[in-house]
Amino acid sequence: MTATPAIEGWFTTGPESALVGSRCTTCETVFFPPLHQASGPGFCRNPACAGEEFAETRLSRRGTVWSYTDAQYQPPPPYVPRSDPYEPFALAAVELPEGLVVLGQVAEGYGVADLRVGAEAELVVETLYADESGERTVWRWKPVVEMGEEADQ
Ligand SMILES: [Zn+2]
Repeated sequence: MTATPAIEGWFTTGPESALVGSRCTTCETVFFPPLHQASGPGFCRNPACAGEEFAETRLSRRGTVWSYTDAQYQPPPPYVPRSDPYEPFALAAVELPEGLVVLGQVAEGYGVADLRVGAEAELVVETLYADESGERTVWRWKPVVEMGEEADQ
């Protein structure tokens, strides 16, 4: 039984796991999810750029919360419900220093009450579900709680 990413090639695993994005070699625009050569020639997300070559790049593991929400409806695949009936969970959109916003579920044990726009969040890789072939993992955003901050609230 091994843990494997639920989506191949979108993030690395291990203690310093990171999202994998694509960087346009022409204009340096970084975007996520990454382009994969297998899916045909890509195009730059920058409308003013005609670049067609991209390099894989590891994204920053920390960013700031840009927006967040409770997911009241079951998302489409690859989301797999952990409970039946469906239980809402929190989603956070986190802005990375590279200038892009990445949506993700909020880490196990955290909810919207732990989120604040502008606060720091850190990437973690957690188990999404397990089947007969092992655990499937996905990235999530974990709120970063600064020392002493909890006491101020
Ligand atoms: Zn470009």
